Amino acid sequence: MKASTTLPTISLIIPCFNEAANITPFVQACVTTLPIGYRYELLFVDDGSRDATARTISTLKPGREDMTIRCLELSRNFGKEVAVTAGLHDCRGAAAVIIDADLQHPPATISKFITAWEQGAEVIIGLRQADKQYAPWVKRQGSKLFYKILNALSSVEILPNATDFRMIDRVVIDEFNRFTERSRMTRGLIDWLGFRREYVEFKPATRLHGEAAYSLRKLTGLALNSIVGMSLVPLKLAGYLGLLITLFFGSLGAVIAVEMFALHDPLHLRVANSVDLAVLIIFLIGIVLMALGLIGLYIATIHTEVANRPLYVVRAPRKK
Ligand code: UDP
Ligand code: MG
Repeated sequence: MKASTTLPTISLIIPCFNEAANITPFVQACVTTLPIGYRYELLFVDDGSRDATARTISTLKPGREDMTIRCLELSRNFGKEVAVTAGLHDCRGAAAVIIDADLQHPPATISKFITAWEQGAEVIIGLRQADKQYAPWVKRQGSKLFYKILNALSSVEILPNATDFRMIDRVVIDEFNRFTERSRMTRGLIDWLGFRREYVEFKPATRLHGEAAYSLRKLTGLALNSIVGMSLVPLKLAGYLGLLITLFFGSLGAVIAVEMFALHDPLHLRVANSVDLAVLIIFLIGIVLMALGLIGLYIATIHTEVANRPLYVVRAPRKK
């Protein structure tokens, strides 16, 4: 066997928000399940926890020769998406695994990720096995609806039971680190990047200690954020609506004008003056909405320019 210093490193990026009770069992699970043959960098990102999370991490002993533990402490709670981004910026591995600290993402699955990675996959995505017990009904339905909308609106395909438990190769990490946009969904951006993808199923466990920090309110915010981030269709909605209204009420107005005033009501419609007025007003509203849509188009352009995503992504030749 090679000396352990020459082995490639795999980083585990573990965002933590008030996870003090879960840290030790998490590391224990890593010690017993991570396969031999690599060095592991456990990079905890303390996302402004108000409990003993950071202190617990600083007292941790790796428990294995091929394992190091580091902690990146954020100054306050920035949210998981930003915490993971910070970890990806900072990690040193030839690949990184993004994993929750609460043991809902079983570290035992990582060995399957690594196998797929060794076979050439660059993005290995953990697929949650359908498990009715996993989340309350509202959350499940909400997530279903969210993915329906997201997939309908965005050009990147995103599987509903795909999680952010995933492993990404160094080439993907480097490309990811070029993203400059501020409101972000890590998963969505990784999906946007493409690369050779592989899926690995895992059975989600229940949270070991504590409550899920993602309230329905936070999740809704995240969902809205990612729809706005991944798609420009909502911006154009007003414009489409305006077009429809203008066309419909414009033609209706034209029919009424010809029938009533030019031909003197041969069909005996006897359209009241108030109806004429309503048709006229709705027609004008349609025009206003179209103008809004036009402004939306310009804002959409600004949006893409400001997000400043790379125009294209090259798959660098793999060194291995
Ligand atoms: N988390 C974080 N910052 C937050 C909320 C959550 O770093 O503001 C971490 C949390 O410690 C956990 C992971 O993100 O490791 C997933 O969070 P949680 O278990 O609360 O959400 P769920 O399992 O419902 O996705
Ligand atoms: Mg959880």
